Amino acid sequence: MNLSDGREVRPMGTDADMGSIRVLVAEDDRAIRELLVHHLERDGFTPVEAADGQATLRAAREGVDLLLLDIGLPGVDGFEIARTLRREGRGMPIVILTARTDEVDRVVGFELGADDYVVKPFSPREVIARVRAILRRSGMKQETGPQTLRFGRLEIDEGAREARVDGRDVGLKPREYALLLTLVANAGVALSRDTLLERVWGYDFDGDERTVDVHMRRLRMRLEEEHRLATCLHTVHGFGYKFSQA
Ligand code: CA
Repeated sequence: MNLSDGREVRPMGTDADMGSIRVLVAEDDRAIRELLVHHLERDGFTPVEAADGQATLRAAREGVDLLLLDIGLPGVDGFEIARTLRREGRGMPIVILTARTDEVDRVVGFELGADDYVVKPFSPREVIARVRAILRRSGMKQETGPQTLRFGRLEIDEGAREARVDGRDVGLKPREYALLLTLVANAGVALSRDTLLERVWGYDFDGDERTVDVHMRRLRMRLEEEHRLATCLHTVHGFGYKFSQA
C-alpha cells in the first residue's frame, strides 16, 4: 500500500453512473456519518448508512461497492468487520476511518485487507478523493448489477423496482417504492423526515414533511395490513422513521 500516494486526484464530475455506486458509511458518530453521506450524495454516489457493527455487516453482505469503516464501532469493531468480510470472500474496497495514529500500524500490519485509511479529523473532500482514487484503481465501473434485498418474507428487487412479500408483487407506487428502498437500504438507522424528503422527493420538492407521513401510512397499510408483514416500519417520535426487522 502506498500511503503517501501523491497521484493527482481529479474530480470525475457527476456522471450519471456514479449514482449506482453504493458506498457504505459505517460510523457511529452521527455528525461524521451525516457529513460523509451529504458529500457522497452531492458527488453523485449512493450512500448507505450503518451506525453499529451488526448493521455494517448486514449492509455489507447485501452488497456495496465500497466501505468506509470506522474502527471504533459499537457491537463489532472495524477490525473484526474487515476480517469477517474478507474471510467470507467479499472483496469490496475498504477505507478505514480511524481516530488514532497508533491504530494505523495495526491497520497496515494486521493484514486486514484494507485498501486505504484516513485519520480523523479529516476533511470530507479528502475522503471522497480517496474513494474516487480507489474506485479508479480497482477498475470500478464494473457492473455490479441490480440487487435484491431480502428481509424475511419481504424482498426488494432493485432490477424490477418491485417490492414482494412471499414472492408476490405488493404493487407499490414509485414514491412508495423509493421510500421503502431508502429505509431498507439503511436498515436500523433512523432517518429524519427531512432526509427522506431530500432522498425520495429531491431537494427542490415543494411539499412539507406531512408528505412523508402520508406515504408511510400507505406503505404500512400495504405491507403490514394487506400482506400481514410483522411490523418493520417504525416511527421515531419527533424525528422520522426507521426500518428494522421484527
Ligand atoms: Ca466510532
